[in-house]
Amino acid sequence: MSYLSKIAILGGGPAGLYAAILLRRLMPAVDLQVYEQNPKGATFGFGVVFSDEALAFLKADDPETHDLVVPNMERWQNMTLNLPKGSVTLDGVGFTAIGRLALIEILRKRAEALNIAVDFDRRIESLDELDADLVIGADGLNSLVRTSMEDAFKPSIEYFGNHFAWFGADRPFDTLTQTFVDTDNGPLNAHHYRYSPDSSTFLVECNDAVFKRCGFAEMDEAESAALCEEIFADVLGGAKLIANKSSWRQFPKLWCENWTAGRYALVGDAAHTAHFSIGSGTRLALEDAIALTRALSRSESLAEAFAAYQTERAPIARKIYEAANASALWYEDYADRMQLPPTEFAFEYINRSGRMDPERLRQTAPRFMRAYDEART
Ligand SMILES: Cc1cc2nc3c(=O)[nH]c(=O)nc-3n(C[C@H](O)[C@H](O)[C@H](O)COP(=O)(O)OP(=O)(O)OC[C@H]3O[C@@H](n4cnc5c(N)ncnc54)[C@H](O)[C@@H]3O)c2cc1C
Repeated sequence: MSYLSKIAILGGGPAGLYAAILLRRLMPAVDLQVYEQNPKGATFGFGVVFSDEALAFLKADDPETHDLVVPNMERWQNMTLNLPKGSVTLDGVGFTAIGRLALIEILRKRAEALNIAVDFDRRIESLDELDADLVIGADGLNSLVRTSMEDAFKPSIEYFGNHFAWFGADRPFDTLTQTFVDTDNGPLNAHHYRYSPDSSTFLVECNDAVFKRCGFAEMDEAESAALCEEIFADVLGGAKLIANKSSWRQFPKLWCENWTAGRYALVGDAAHTAHFSIGSGTRLALEDAIALTRALSRSESLAEAFAAYQTERAPIARKIYEAANASALWYEDYADRMQLPPTEFAFEYINRSGRMDPERLRQTAPRFMRAYDEART
């Protein structure tokens, strides 16, 4: 990579830190600088989940980081759906989870151990501040790199209809759980799972009509948390919801037609989103970093590397993006299906992103499929 001597990475989230780690390994002599607007040790959100095999890609490419992350993960083999008419276990639908901050801290420490300069508390206001041969836009959903060059990146962005608030809960849950409740204001859903031995993510979602009837728009975070504690009192079992930038939002559906332009490349949420219901956004961000750095290391020029990155990575990410969009849409109209027997509802749920065929499901979740077949006969 002699064509590169100075690289600037905008954003010290998973994509930016991981890109820096990989680049330092590939090109120890390059001048590498990461800029992060948050202070060291601060972030938004609680835990993030990975689908079962999601860390296999890390193990193959970077066993050191894999071995640092894995001991900090919670893992489970089954998933639970709580419905008004009963609970269903989806056996074999395994996931792992880690605190977002824990993951970032692991990556930060690894970056610092590799002598990578991370400039915390430094918000970049203009691309003119970045003097480098290559600028990696790992600056998340509201990416300055992308929004400064929309004609080149050609983003499309729209918002899903549902509203969500990302809370934490001060108790663990046994498995990754989806709790669906029916209230006088209509149905709401919580995605909840532990991300450390004593803490969980508790993400509440509902459609626009329910959002308005509940009055969430007029509440502050503490009031929202209190109402959600009431709504999900059964499953919370006395646990408290914790707010951290937990305002109600609508999830953005973002895709850039081009991921590179001039001396700029986008990775992670700057280039695309993936709805949280399939637990893939962080994985995609890390995989983008792997794909970009690999293309850079195998090419003789930035133009060649950028072409390889776009051609090889974008179609793979696109499939996950589409599955995530299908999953997000399912959450917009599950209300009618809540009248179904729980196993039928669960069957619909597990097939929501269109990526699970019945044969694969029989192998993955044999006990659930037996219960499903029995309930239908
Ligand atoms: C509610 C919710 C739940 C989620 N759940 C999951 C999940 O379970 N599993 C999963 O895999 N993913 C999940 N995600 C998605 C995941 O959080 C993102 O896909 C992932 O964080 C993307 O990483 P990134 O590094 O691209 O961007 P980010 O994590 O957003 O990092 C970007 C960084 O850039 C910094 N930055 C931005 N602009 C500037 C600037 N101008 N100057 C300096 N610094 C800047 C920001 O401070 C930030 O630290 C969820 C997302 C949401 C909203």
